[in-house]
Amino acid sequence: MTEQYHMNSHEGTYTREFEAKVEATFPGIIELDKTAFYPLGGGQPSDIGTITWNEGDANVTDVRKKNRIRHIVEGDLPEVGDSIKGNLDWSRRYSHMRMHTSQHLVSAVVNEIYGSDTVGNQIGNEKSRIDFKPLKINQTELNEVEDKVNDYISKDLKVTISEELRSNLENNPDIRSSMSSGLWKMLPKSVTELRVITIGDIDVCPCAGTHVKSLKEIGNVSFIKRDNKGSEKLRLTYNLGDIDS
Ligand SMILES: [Zn+2]
Repeated sequence: MTEQYHMNSHEGTYTREFEAKVEATFPGIIELDKTAFYPLGGGQPSDIGTITWNEGDANVTDVRKKNRIRHIVEGDLPEVGDSIKGNLDWSRRYSHMRMHTSQHLVSAVVNEIYGSDTVGNQIGNEKSRIDFKPLKINQTELNEVEDKVNDYISKDLKVTISEELRSNLENNPDIRSSMSSGLWKMLPKSVTELRVITIGDIDVCPCAGTHVKSLKEIGNVSFIKRDNKGSEKLRLTYNLGDIDS
């Protein structure tokens, strides 16, 4: 297993550069003992960036999770045991963190008002989308969702990362019944602890993605599209306003 920086702390999540050791290589693939590169998963695209070492360098074009994390690369290949430096494309990754955290927030607000489940999501740099079921709302109602989301952002609720016992999460009415929770329920019974992302006192959700540490980093959520996908499914697409910092 490759240790992943983002899993246990905000500090780890905000790692842009790191050092690691090469554990294995295959043509076009580098595997490390630890990594800050996020692998594709949970609706969040993989990170991209570079891996450099004394004698060479490679561009990381994709990252996938097998047993270890596989960095898909173009360029040179290091030797097993080499020390490397990893560098993330931070503007892309930080957008994903802001977008992913707003996905939890939007899902929580829609669930709070309409009781709808999140049944799919796709995080992007420029825009993201969430599928809800069952959900049927008009533009005025969508504006109210947007206001409530942005009201929570202005309150700057804290985001926390924790490990929770699966037995405390299962059949707990406070846990959002989302795609994430649908997926975690399919994990083998041997998995007894789960990584959980909590937003203030409004949302608790098992998730392995990357998130910002406070809601104010999101900026402002604007819904740009509302698509009826049939059988009571509604797709909401949003983008984020600029942030000051
Ligand atoms: Zn998440």
